[in-house]
Amino acid sequence: MTTRRALLTGTALLVGGSAAGAVGYRLWRDREPDGPPSTDGAGRLVWRNWSGIQSSYPQSRAAPANEDELASLLKTAQGPIRPVGAGHSFQPLVPTSGTLLTLDRMSGVLDHDPEALTAQVRAGTRLGELGPALAKIGQEMRNLPDINKQSIGGALGTGTHGTGLGFKAIHGEVQSFRIATLGGDILDCSADHHPEIYHAARVNLGAFGVITEVTLRNSPLTTVQKRVELRDLGDVCDDWPALKKKHRNVEFYAIPFTGKAAVITVDETYRPVKPRGADEDSSTLMTLKTLRDVFGYAPDVRRFVARKLMDTLPAEDMVDEGWKLLSNERPVRFNEMEFHLPVDAQIPALKEVVATIEANRPDVFFPIEVRHIEADDAWLSPFYQRTSGSVAVHAYYKDEYQFLFTLIEPIFRRHGGRPHWGKLNSLTAADFRALYPRFDDAMAVRAALDPGGKFLNPYLKTALIGG
Ligand SMILES: Cc1cc2nc3c(=O)[nH]c(=O)nc-3n(C[C@H](O)[C@H](O)[C@H](O)COP(=O)(O)OP(=O)(O)OC[C@H]3O[C@@H](n4cnc5c(N)ncnc54)[C@H](O)[C@@H]3O)c2cc1C
Repeated sequence: MTTRRALLTGTALLVGGSAAGAVGYRLWRDREPDGPPSTDGAGRLVWRNWSGIQSSYPQSRAAPANEDELASLLKTAQGPIRPVGAGHSFQPLVPTSGTLLTLDRMSGVLDHDPEALTAQVRAGTRLGELGPALAKIGQEMRNLPDINKQSIGGALGTGTHGTGLGFKAIHGEVQSFRIATLGGDILDCSADHHPEIYHAARVNLGAFGVITEVTLRNSPLTTVQKRVELRDLGDVCDDWPALKKKHRNVEFYAIPFTGKAAVITVDETYRPVKPRGADEDSSTLMTLKTLRDVFGYAPDVRRFVARKLMDTLPAEDMVDEGWKLLSNERPVRFNEMEFHLPVDAQIPALKEVVATIEANRPDVFFPIEVRHIEADDAWLSPFYQRTSGSVAVHAYYKDEYQFLFTLIEPIFRRHGGRPHWGKLNSLTAADFRALYPRFDDAMAVRAALDPGGKFLNPYLKTALIGG
């Protein structure tokens, strides 16, 4: 059967070959961005985030094996102390000249309750390890993000989320957690124990202490059918409320300069397993890049060719356990801005974003991601008391991304958006205070746990304390 990969790549290569001059120009620009040296003058090794835009040279690196080691380390560690998960955040949350702290040696499922469907998990556990570990005990996380590389601690750090009507972000399913404080205490926090820390630090930016364990409310293990289908963007925007009601999980990617959208739906099924095949997303992405390279400055032709290619593509279906299908591999690196908007503002904001990109930025080829997240009650949650529609704009890692700040962020802000804590934004403490009704309460809890600001790097001082 014709696949997205075969058809798009084959045809686009033909098209590309006929426009070698344009490709040559793009190839000249298509170079690895400059990176920082691997060591600094003092011989300290560089740390970099996934996309490559954040880096630092920590004075020391620590990987405690248990809570006791962590507690004694925190009493003497040089600040800023910055916990790191998988380094997949785009904002400068992790960079430190002091202590970089990983919980990679503190991972795995500790205990579970088959009746209550909860599991106690060490905070260094990567979501990708958690899937099979929970499957063994008949459980799965209620929802998953687009990738599963993050650690549980890192996911809670920034309010990491998936999509679907009735589905909260990951921190919305945290029943309790344990946090190691600067004073060397390990506190059990839940709605009943240290409730103020529970509310303030379920989304915490690694600025309150170090989360060591989390008890997650899970679901029974399910088999799901995932479908990827290309449709006209206008129709998908009109159908979005109905799509959300019809499918357990749904999102779409608006593909700029094509008038098309890739709709991804996930529903429970009793059908036999049909595993996901080879990764089609990356080759589709590279085909969109080729179209950009060749026709970037002839938008009508770009749209015509893209639609000709896409109109013949069949939908893709796969069936498997949910944890195997909800998250994806994303080998093509990018930088990203995502805002969470009031539900009614989501599609108007998306349309403005697409129109703005198409009018101003022919170099953009990454699809724009559109999702739905249910409200929760964590004080620093972007979904605090507000069910939200998110819109995420990506820039290829080799491409200039300042347009996210100059062109896209103002649209999101005008529509009342709250930024994803881990993704690019230029907001400071005064902005966050205006967007988060319990911001000052959360900061009071933070200051009581870390009066000297030992967990704060320069960015966090700007974002949480301000000038
Ligand atoms: C390819 C890609 C796809 C993505 N898809 C999604 C998506 O679908 N949905 C979404 O919401 N986000 C998504 N993100 C963003 C990502 O989920 C968040 O930035 C997440 O926080 C990264 O987790 P991490 O383990 O890499 O944490 P890091 O980026 O390393 O750290 C994030 C924060 O958590 C803190 N932290 C880490 N561990 C602990 C701990 N044990 N205790 C206290 N604080 C801690 C850090 O100090 C930091 O402030 C994506 C990012 C990439 C690169």
